[in-house]
Amino acid sequence: MDYAELPEKVTIIREKIADAVRRGGHGQKVDIVAVTKTHSSSAVTAAWYAGLRDCGENRVQEAIDKMKEVEVPVSWHLIGHLQRNKVSALGKFSLLHSLDRSRLADAINAFGLKSGRAINALVQVNTSGEDTKGGYSNDELIAEADRLITMSGINIKGVMTMAPYDASESTLRKTFQGAFQAREILRAAGHTADHLSMGMSGDYEIAVEEGATIVRLGSILFGERE
Ligand SMILES: *Cc1c(COP(=O)(O)O)cnc(C)c1O
Repeated sequence: MDYAELPEKVTIIREKIADAVRRGGHGQKVDIVAVTKTHSSSAVTAAWYAGLRDCGENRVQEAIDKMKEVEVPVSWHLIGHLQRNKVSALGKFSLLHSLDRSRLADAINAFGLKSGRAINALVQVNTSGEDTKGGYSNDELIAEADRLITMSGINIKGVMTMAPYDASESTLRKTFQGAFQAREILRAAGHTADHLSMGMSGDYEIAVEEGATIVRLGSILFGERE
């Protein structure tokens, strides 16, 4: 796969993000996480040379295999479901986007305490109400936020959400507004919670209008996945 057009794509996407920030009126800074899952490590390197410093993978083993091959110093983000027996891999990632359940929080906290470095994580919320998606509802989050603040092995940096695939614009906006509310819940409980990770290739402009500070982009950068 040839990524010669990537720098130009990134320029266009950054312009669209800037326009969406203006329309949305939140005035936030927006980072792009380049989602390289199913693509080879050359996608990671191409992203780096196109100015993207953060890469996202949703499986631990696939990410670790690429880390071994990549020479540029990208920050790795884990954006997919994490099994509790793999929490020690978090030492290799700058941010987990998918802290989606209490038992995982306990395991991450234990690992963070043991390794002497708090693990950076976003709480995944399911504000679209789909059964197939993981994450806390905002009602569950109210209690969990108080529990998480007591865990010095985890640093809660904000919220992540995934919108339903092919949803209407109003459903997308409701989902993203729910995540915005979730971040307020975290802040009210004393978490710093600067980040809102939301928006993928098909919906990132709407997510940015609704306040996203991190968008996770795969196919729009690298083409359809194999
Ligand atoms: C695959 C994936 C993305 C990127 O999806 P695209 O539609 O290709 O941009 C973003 N977030 C998560 C959690 C993913 O698994």
